[in-house]
Amino acid sequence: MISTTQLDEHASDSLFKMLDAENKKSITSNTFLNQLAENGILEDDPRMRELLHSFTFKVPKDTKTITQAEFNDILKQNALVKKSLSKNLVIPDFESFCKHIEDIFFETRKNKTGKVADYIPQLARVNPEQFAISICTVDGQRFSIGDSNVDFCLQSSCKPINYCLALEELGEQKVHSHVGREPSGQSFNELALNLKGLPHNPMINAGAMMSCSLIDRKNSIADRFDKVNRTWKALCAEKAVSFNNSVYLSERQTADRNFALAYFMREKNAFPEKTNLTETLEFYFQCCSIESKTYDLAAAAATLANAGTNPLTGEVIFKSSTVQNCLSLMLSCGMYDFSGEFAFKIGLPAKSGVSGALMLVIPNVMGISIWSPRLDEIGNSVRGVEFCKRLVERFSFHQYDSLTGHSTKINPRKKEKEVKASKVMELIWSASHGDLDEILRLEAEGVSPDIADYDGRTPLHLATSEGQLEVVKHLISKNVNLSPKDRWGNTPMEDAIKFKHKEIQKLLEQAIKSCNSKKDKVIESILI
Ligand code: GLU
Repeated sequence: MISTTQLDEHASDSLFKMLDAENKKSITSNTFLNQLAENGILEDDPRMRELLHSFTFKVPKDTKTITQAEFNDILKQNALVKKSLSKNLVIPDFESFCKHIEDIFFETRKNKTGKVADYIPQLARVNPEQFAISICTVDGQRFSIGDSNVDFCLQSSCKPINYCLALEELGEQKVHSHVGREPSGQSFNELALNLKGLPHNPMINAGAMMSCSLIDRKNSIADRFDKVNRTWKALCAEKAVSFNNSVYLSERQTADRNFALAYFMREKNAFPEKTNLTETLEFYFQCCSIESKTYDLAAAAATLANAGTNPLTGEVIFKSSTVQNCLSLMLSCGMYDFSGEFAFKIGLPAKSGVSGALMLVIPNVMGISIWSPRLDEIGNSVRGVEFCKRLVERFSFHQYDSLTGHSTKINPRKKEKEVKASKVMELIWSASHGDLDEILRLEAEGVSPDIADYDGRTPLHLATSEGQLEVVKHLISKNVNLSPKDRWGNTPMEDAIKFKHKEIQKLLEQAIKSCNSKKDKVIESILI
């Protein structure tokens, strides 16, 4: 019997051979790192720090070579490297996935409609042409394209995180005694509250101010801002976020509507007791003025996709129940007045902001940070929304795509082998349950009715054993092999006899006979 160590060594050997195409018995560290990068594991990944600081990588990258023994050691010690090189991460073929993303990016970039927000000069002055996409999977595979290193302010995309902070501290019941969870059906800064006199939800301005009033109330406003800042840093995998003071000052200067909303809420006793209104509003403007780039923000979106644990640092930032609540509200209320349409068409939680920011979450798969400053009339980034539409047209990411089995969309989560294996299993299962419709559907998808599972059991074996007469008739009409042997040497005919399915036995006998006589005729015609 082969031990797991032997199996591991065998796997390491084949991976090494794959990288050592010229059979030099060594590879450069460049080759090694490029291969990891193709699979989405980048050099600034905190999980790679230790390895890159080790002796092997201290020498200049293009001169240092790695021998097979060193390579085997690296794989033994670093599960991430091994999983990545053997394509066992959540998007196994990351390289081809990224080609699609590039393609969608360039298509979307052609769209020059919409205009930048102009209610404050700092947003009005932003170069409208800029466009960036960054992806981070729940396994920490990353890819960026466009202006992914340009800072922009979070604006409303800070709202989900402030809501999470309030939930973590006070729990669902307390938080929702101050803010509802229904879409408002009105604009994000509408002077309107729900029937209880509370903001409709935490994703619009009134609700976001409420979240701010709830976070860390016992501390000074400076400490409260530090807490938000620290959380963003942790979400961005320890990359510092910055603060745009001029955005903050402008926000404060043009805040009549937000003040009106806050006074309206105070009149309705919506805030917790002793809330300092001015301080709360300023805190909210400060949160909107935090800046970062898509390159780092993708990790924040991925943390939400990964139930609150940052995939790059492994830090648990939010409880999974907190994230579940947050994503539910992002899905129903995250895209201003377009939220219903977005949930219908895209089917994924997202949050946009007037800076052109958009955070998209594909639960258990990846987070995507998008930025393009031109907005539609509703306030969402035009290219951001278009990118999302194109993404779910191509990939089965809409949360209900799993219901439409006939989908021609790509599922990048699965390995090709797994896809094939699952179709084989589906066909065999359908044969044993007499589900002819499903068999016809799978055949239409190109699955051969002659396939066999790991034990050599074919659809004909299963249909025969279970007495599924109609399926057996169908398989015979498809000219499948009538006498395949499973791993125990049994043919369908033997199964028919064993399980006493007389009618099927007769049918098989006739089919085999007619098949043999056809063969005889062919042989005769060849011999003549
Ligand atoms: N600072 C903006 C406001 O409160 C946020 C707007 C937004 O991104 O939705 O008006």
